[in-house]
Amino acid sequence: MTALNESWFTEIFQDQGTAFSLQINRKLHEEQTEFQKLEIYDTATFGNLMVLDGCVMLTARDNFLYHEMMTHPALFTHKNPKNVVIIGGGDCGTLREVLRHPGVEEAWQVEIDERVTRNSEKYFPDLCESNEDPRANFFFGDGIQWIRDRAPNSVDLIIVDSTDPVGPAEGLFATDFYRDCLLALRDGGIVVQQSESPLLHADTIIKTIHQDMKKAGFDHVHTLPFPQPVYPTGWWSCTLGGKDKPLRYFREADAADRPFVTRYYNEAIHKAALAQPQFMVDLLAD
Ligand code: SAM
Repeated sequence: MTALNESWFTEIFQDQGTAFSLQINRKLHEEQTEFQKLEIYDTATFGNLMVLDGCVMLTARDNFLYHEMMTHPALFTHKNPKNVVIIGGGDCGTLREVLRHPGVEEAWQVEIDERVTRNSEKYFPDLCESNEDPRANFFFGDGIQWIRDRAPNSVDLIIVDSTDPVGPAEGLFATDFYRDCLLALRDGGIVVQQSESPLLHADTIIKTIHQDMKKAGFDHVHTLPFPQPVYPTGWWSCTLGGKDKPLRYFREADAADRPFVTRYYNEAIHKAALAQPQFMVDLLAD
């Protein structure tokens, strides 16, 4: 539920009794795509803002937190990720971070709504700066079917950068989908799922993701919390599922020597993100 009051964009979380607002200078764009209502605003202090169906997706100012944490921990945990698939992620920020890794040979972005990408190219050009990279490939269609159609043992990393688990994204939070991911992954493969807020969803969505990934056959499942000011509670998470390798060990020396600039991620942040708040330890214990 959203309310646009004078020069403020407000996303109301009715069930939580909370709301998040950003002061806006003006609305830059609005359209009803085949899949969702897409809005772009110019905000007073957070740069451009993308909203899908009334939910804040990203701002220019703080998306680096989410995009770096959705990518670098998994890419530095996998021994040698060459083939990477992003499901969703139409703003292209995740793709840009993936392609910072020189060892990645091929990355696919599989986004159901092409209008998200076309508008990101226009209003978030920084996030799209790697779209012309020869390793970047785009498919506009349903990620659930796309993963189902993958050849077995053909992918090293699958990053599910989706909207909340409703509408077209619902099936991306499901045992059957994780089972198809497991089949598509090579040995040592990892799936990464954006897994919502630890404070709001640890005992619901996050716990269910753990159960579903394990049911699907992922031996190792771990949730990494990180800050994200524009999402509900300001605290977000991604959950990693490891096909057959523990997720607690990562290529720390390679992370320290990374040949690219980050703003949030580094090897110390990686280690810190592996630590679990006690309530999550208790909730996620088998
Ligand atoms: N960072 C955001 C968050 O956590 O809310 C997600 C950003 S990204 C824009 C999410 C994208 O997932 C949307 O563009 C949406 O169209 C896409 N999406 C949703 N369901 C999908 C599906 N089944 N297959 C492919 N893309 C999907």
